[in-house]
Amino acid sequence: MYGQMMFKPLLISSLLEHAANFHADTAIISKNLDTSLHTTNWGEVSANAKRFAKALNALNVQHGDCVATLAWNNYRHVEAWYAISGSGLICHTINPRLFPEQLIFIVNDAKDRVLIFDKTFLPLILAIKTHISNVETFICLDAYDEDIKQALPEVQFYDDLVQQQTADYDWPEFDELTASSLCYTSGTTGHPKGVLYSHRSTVLHTLAACIPDSLNLSAQDVMLPVVPMFHVHAWGSPYAAAMVGCTLILPGPYLDGESLVKMIDDYQVTVALGVPTIWQGLISAAQKLGSQLCSMTRNVVGGSACPPSMIATFKQDYHCETIHAWGMTEASPLGTVNQLKAKHKDLSASEQAEIRLSQGRPPFGIQVRIVNQENDTTSIQQDVGAIGNLQIKGHWIVKHYFGASDALLTSDGWFDTGDIARLNSDGYLTISDRAKDLIKSGGEWISSVELENIAMGHPEVAMAAVIAAKHEKWDERPVLVAVKQPNSPITEMEILDYYHDKIAKWQIPDKVIFVDAIPLSGTGKMLKRKLREDFVNILLDS
Ligand code: AMP
Repeated sequence: MYGQMMFKPLLISSLLEHAANFHADTAIISKNLDTSLHTTNWGEVSANAKRFAKALNALNVQHGDCVATLAWNNYRHVEAWYAISGSGLICHTINPRLFPEQLIFIVNDAKDRVLIFDKTFLPLILAIKTHISNVETFICLDAYDEDIKQALPEVQFYDDLVQQQTADYDWPEFDELTASSLCYTSGTTGHPKGVLYSHRSTVLHTLAACIPDSLNLSAQDVMLPVVPMFHVHAWGSPYAAAMVGCTLILPGPYLDGESLVKMIDDYQVTVALGVPTIWQGLISAAQKLGSQLCSMTRNVVGGSACPPSMIATFKQDYHCETIHAWGMTEASPLGTVNQLKAKHKDLSASEQAEIRLSQGRPPFGIQVRIVNQENDTTSIQQDVGAIGNLQIKGHWIVKHYFGASDALLTSDGWFDTGDIARLNSDGYLTISDRAKDLIKSGGEWISSVELENIAMGHPEVAMAAVIAAKHEKWDERPVLVAVKQPNSPITEMEILDYYHDKIAKWQIPDKVIFVDAIPLSGTGKMLKRKLREDFVNILLDS
């Protein structure tokens, strides 16, 4: 017998509907391309999303078609992505930092019918246009602009399309398993792979992101998603903001430390989300500008490992709790979040800080396990603390890559993340490395992340990446590639000495290479593949 309760499909449009019904006057402030600020609210965003949904319906698109966006975090982008998914189309957020060949590949792979873009990306569109013939409609996410019209005569303008419609539109109701949006993985090896989310997976993910043990969001928050909407939906933050009805501050393309400090202080941001390189810039800018970032009670960091020194700086200098989270495109992205348990309350500050370093524990809806080898289902690590391959399962985890027919999951239905990790008895996860970034020295594994974290603890080091270099005797040895703080006189020997009381001697890097900058991927992660290409033979050569 079924239960006798109402059934309502979990649809993305219901998030916006909720925000419009109960938080209509809550502000959404975004920074325009020309640095001016635009203020709107959930009521207006909802009305414009409805208008734009009607405009999309009038185009030659059908339920289930992909509509791509190439845009920064701004209010028009938020309106458009709710309009796309809410009306039954698939919102394909594209990372503009991909190489043009990758952009062409993913637009064709997704068979995007419409491409919505911020003015900034016009040159990119013009460069790839002849290679993306499936795109029939180009919409510039702005008001009418003669220069853009000249360069791309078929372009339509978002503001015109919205103004031509009224907001009398009812979001359609359909199966909650319908595809809602599409993101491609960073693609550090081979072509990027698409992950196709559903309305149901997105709404459940949003609920999990909001709870106190995750990001602890409420209508009182002022949220600043620095992580771009093209990086796994800004980790789902604009959905979560609608669910709780909080204020949203959207930085546009201005992700540098000084701009962020100003936005945080001007709008009293309480919670901000971003990758470690963003926070690095924020801390330097706050120091320079003398800001105490007083309003920011917490910042969420993920995407790559957060150096312990960064967590300590936020806590000690800014009274800001850094919430370390782990996730991936294939997990919508939230997998684990670091929040303390009741039993940790009475621990000393340093003991609590120690717990805060890990990537945290899974919210309801996610299962995690550690196995001995990739795609292994038999040798599950029963020992608490054993290191192995991390596999996950849950309501918002990928089943297949977009368009792929080959099995992605293990025979018993788990997704192998490609990360090497361990779990403690409370379910807190510590990521040691990407499997491919581990260093195998004389048959023993060395974690590059651990070595990077130590280097980052040195006050003279601004950024650190550790890679495996080929070695005649040991096969591979760690090499540290570091960026010094401005004008620092630090030497290789001083950094190597710094490792001595912190790690076993055989794990200390063989060499330090100073560089001006470490190459970053489109999502702000260190491109270790590029560093490996450059320095893999450095120990053989010397
Ligand atoms: P992406 O799909 O581009 O978001 O990349 C996902 C990968 O980023 C994961 O598989 C991890 O290797 C890495 N990652 C994400 N969050 C963290 C974290 N907090 N600590 C260490 N690695 C992380």
